[in-house]
Amino acid sequence: MDKKVAIIGAGFSGLSAATLLSHKGFNVEVFEKNEKPGGRARNFASEGYTFDMGPTWYWFPDVFERFFAQFNTSVSDLYTLKRLDPSYRIFFSKNEFIDVPANGDALYALFESIEAGSSQQLEKFLSEAEYKYTLAIDKILHKPSYSILEYFEPGILKGFFKLDILKSLSKSVRQLFKDIRLIRILEFPVIFLGAAPNKTPALYSLMNYADLILGTWYPEGGMYSVVEGFYNLAQSFGVKFHFNSEVQNLRISNSYIADIQVNGTNRKFDYVIGSGDYYHIESKLLEKKHQSYSENYWESRTMAPSSLLFYLGINKKLNNLQHHNLLFDSDFEKHTDEIYSTPKWPSDPALYVACSSKTDEHAAPEGHENVIVLIPVAPGLQDDMAIKEYYFKMVIRRLEKITGQSIKENIVYKRSYAYSDFIKDYYAFKGNAYGMANTLRQTAFLKPKIKSKKINNLFYAGQLTVPGPGVPPAIISGEIAAREIIRMNL
Ligand SMILES: Cc1cc2nc3c(=O)[nH]c(=O)nc-3n(C[C@H](O)[C@H](O)[C@H](O)COP(=O)(O)OP(=O)(O)OC[C@H]3O[C@@H](n4cnc5c(N)ncnc54)[C@H](O)[C@@H]3O)c2cc1C
Repeated sequence: MDKKVAIIGAGFSGLSAATLLSHKGFNVEVFEKNEKPGGRARNFASEGYTFDMGPTWYWFPDVFERFFAQFNTSVSDLYTLKRLDPSYRIFFSKNEFIDVPANGDALYALFESIEAGSSQQLEKFLSEAEYKYTLAIDKILHKPSYSILEYFEPGILKGFFKLDILKSLSKSVRQLFKDIRLIRILEFPVIFLGAAPNKTPALYSLMNYADLILGTWYPEGGMYSVVEGFYNLAQSFGVKFHFNSEVQNLRISNSYIADIQVNGTNRKFDYVIGSGDYYHIESKLLEKKHQSYSENYWESRTMAPSSLLFYLGINKKLNNLQHHNLLFDSDFEKHTDEIYSTPKWPSDPALYVACSSKTDEHAAPEGHENVIVLIPVAPGLQDDMAIKEYYFKMVIRRLEKITGQSIKENIVYKRSYAYSDFIKDYYAFKGNAYGMANTLRQTAFLKPKIKSKKINNLFYAGQLTVPGPGVPPAIISGEIAAREIIRMNL
């Protein structure tokens, strides 16, 4: 096939679209403004420590397997996965934490030990979650979602009411469980979707099935080894990658992209997939008359949070931490309010702490630890050195207190990453980390469309379009955009 496709961005959505299209015989070139593939999932190494910059939780292993199976390959051909057990630790106070086990029987026993009768409720909850997960993966998530009519098919309509679209996840959890620790375990996964549990449809309890049954996995070498797997596969099909190559302009003629401007040079392609942040591509690369959505539209969207991150090298082994740790020792509801309802720097935030050197001896020098601290914050909050330093001190104090050891004097490497970095590195709208929140009004056909409404050969992929935020959805969105182009050429 002599059809040429340009893909803007080498994040997971761009890599997925490029792989599928090149496998089908399209001539694909990927233009990436940064120095290497991965987008938000890049990594960096310094002083013997290697840090995944963005995603650290590998969930939905079947989405990856399903993607690779299309090319007669599999995860084990590309990288090595290990299931973590415990999946993660949740701290509720200095002396109180729960390790969430990978084993089903141990999980039910844990629930029962905390609240009598809750193991039966969990069984019911997870069986409904499995139903939603299977229906979503098989029939919903891979749809282009141009219109609600795509969902009017017997397989979906039959199960529609079981999807719990109109009830919030929070309500559905709190009807079944009373102990706040169990509620936290079941509510936290939807934070990955960018919205508060009371604003997220109970449909997304499918995330609980992914968490508690399908499990939390670790790719040897970190999440970046998954990026490398995708990158190598795409290259094996002939995709050409151009790094340090920013697409600066899309020139339109008769409602088609005539050429794209990269680093000052004009190039011609039959199709373009914008897999960088949707808003940036619309508002910075296209003239107003060619944009599908207005400034008001974007301003009125609920964006997923931004994040303040610290990448830390510690010159000793730390006690009382697992690979993944959640510190819910503060007022969780107040923090979600400060992200979504009254956006401001959080007073006492919940924290996520990753310590991948607990699993991976190559993540830090021998006897050291590799620690990442993530604070979810409202999108659009300006940061500066003083703010970062304030939170750094707060985070270290909290960590020292909750794990019962000194840490401050042992920090031998420190890098922070926040709002302004998301904008500089990815042109992230309002400095978002995970794209657009999966609220009821921003799900499926209510998300920014995968195809431009104004330009016939322009498509979008990535975490601001369907199906939503996260690595597995980004992979699926690349597939959807690629299939739309393939369909136009049948
Ligand atoms: C801190 C953090 C933690 C996360 N944790 C998890 C997790 O644990 N598990 C999980 O599943 N997901 C997680 N996510 C979300 C996940 O990383 C993203 O949803 C996913 O990687 C997005 O992929 P993408 O292809 O849509 O976008 P991106 O990864 O942002 O890729 C887009 C690419 O386009 C490039 N680009 C933009 N504009 C241009 C231009 N004009 N010219 C050329 N290139 C351009 C950018 O440089 C970027 O490389 C996390 C994200 C962050 C930030």
